[in-house]
Amino acid sequence: MASERYDVVVIGAGPAGYIAAIRAAQLGFRVACIEKWANPKGEMALGGTCLNVGCIPSKALLASSEKYEEATRHLSEHGIEIGTARLDVAKMQARKDAIVGKMTKGIEFLFRKNKIAWLKGHGRFTGENDGLWGLEVVNPAGNALVDAKHVIIATGSRARHLPGVAVDNDRVCDNEGALALTEVPRRLGVIGAGVIGLELGSVWRRLGADVTVLEALPTFLAACDEAVSRECWKVFERQGLRIHLGAKIGEIRVGSRKASAKKADTGAPVTVAWHDAHGAAQVLEVDRLIVSVGRIPNTEGLGLDAISLATDERGFIPVDDHCRTKLENVYAIGDVVRGPMLAHKGEDEGVMVAELIAGQKPHIDYDCIPWVIYTSPEIAWVGRTEQQLKAEGRAYKSGQFPFLANGRALGMASAEGFVKVLADAATDEVLGVHIIGAGASDLIAEAVVAMEFKASSEDIARICHPHPSMSEVMREAALAVDKRALNM
Ligand code: FAD
Ligand code: NAD
Repeated sequence: MASERYDVVVIGAGPAGYIAAIRAAQLGFRVACIEKWANPKGEMALGGTCLNVGCIPSKALLASSEKYEEATRHLSEHGIEIGTARLDVAKMQARKDAIVGKMTKGIEFLFRKNKIAWLKGHGRFTGENDGLWGLEVVNPAGNALVDAKHVIIATGSRARHLPGVAVDNDRVCDNEGALALTEVPRRLGVIGAGVIGLELGSVWRRLGADVTVLEALPTFLAACDEAVSRECWKVFERQGLRIHLGAKIGEIRVGSRKASAKKADTGAPVTVAWHDAHGAAQVLEVDRLIVSVGRIPNTEGLGLDAISLATDERGFIPVDDHCRTKLENVYAIGDVVRGPMLAHKGEDEGVMVAELIAGQKPHIDYDCIPWVIYTSPEIAWVGRTEQQLKAEGRAYKSGQFPFLANGRALGMASAEGFVKVLADAATDEVLGVHIIGAGASDLIAEAVVAMEFKASSEDIARICHPHPSMSEVMREAALAVDKRALNM
């Protein structure tokens, strides 16, 4: 079988891979992208985890559930009485599916526009010959061979499951099942108080589920600034999200059978045996369980042996700061490599690698990658936390300002939370910004720009911000670094 030749072949069309393919095509390369994703209807789809079962569908449900909560609990504050709101979960899910369809078809359009060949199937390396990397695209309809000067591995990640606990995505769900529930469970259990557990736990709580979260670690949201995690804990408690820290999970059963059994009892409750932080035995009985205990990189069947490329002890493909593997012209980006598993981090790596291949000198400042947790209120941060600065022994100043003292936040009935700015004690350079509050996902962009340009807190404090707007809280927090907040 003859091989089709490309300048660049990307394996995986999630946000890391599809962006790498587009940027490489913009730079004039002949590009192909191998992708095998099939949606529940059996149609092959681009977009990876992010578009199909991650960022996009979760944020669609998030918006719907926020509207429901607004209608049922908060509109009357504004003097709007609407009687009883009725929930149509099927319609809500159909809306989410339509958004996913629109987005994934959008990438097909972008591929056509940029003349990127979509090779449908599972990609694997076959070896190297004369400076060209050989790949096979495995597809039941017929395999194909391709070779390329440059290969970008962007195979992403999948949900980690607990040993001995089968995920059927009906009673026991990972992110895929948790995004596709057809009714609101009366009692929902979540294992893992990480990003997915908190975001999806909040979605189903807002829609009426009684949610209990079991987290192994003794600290809550350890990656966040401590002031933010403390505030967040208080807010979640007020909202009725029950979170138990230091939980040790034991056996999980669906009805009378172990959750690992092939055929679990339908309709019966899911029981989770667990020990609390004091070592006392507990049992949690729920109607559905979400297991959200992290994600693992996808490298199985990728033919890494054929090119002598080993993964690290955690299964990631080792790369340098520019996403170069140890093999010439083989790169790896996104969730399959070190660093935060975030779509925008993968996208930036995709652009960087395509530009490297074109001989440019791109660079990513990994300290300036923002994080957002889309709970209500949202949590967002960039740079160092206060506890990190303490551990590093770095002298810093801190300024904090609450949304409660902001007119726009009060008007919007979104006055929970604050902005906190951390700056170097000597130079005033902004080292970290932490936000908990409505719209934090958008507000954080200002902090990212400031940090990319090595701004000082005074730079932010001197910039005119629109009034009345939530962004004024960023300016006030920057002013508070030198104890000169104006509205407090
Ligand atoms: P993926 O998106 O996982 O894509 C990898 C692609 O490679 C897949 O399509 C897969 O089919 C394909 N593939 C794998 N192996 C092969 C092979 N051998 N041959 C062919 N194709 C292959 N991140 C955010 O930044 N913001 C969010 O709000 C956010 N929300 C999330 C919500 C949920 C519920 C989840 C699960 C994740 C969320 N994430 C979010 C994380 C984000 O989805 C990932 O960081 C991102 O998708 C990683 O992109 P990627 O391109 O590296 O991998
Ligand atoms: P996570 O790493 O955020 O959280 C997993 C949690 O599960 C941790 O707190 C961990 O201590 C806990 N845990 C692990 N094993 C456990 C056990 N046996 N019992 C109880 N708790 C246990 O992982 P996730 O929530 O599955 O999300 C995966 C990744 O997807 C995230 O790290 C993030 O990078 C990405 N994501 C991002 C967003 C976003 O950007 N808004 C949203 C969703 C997912």
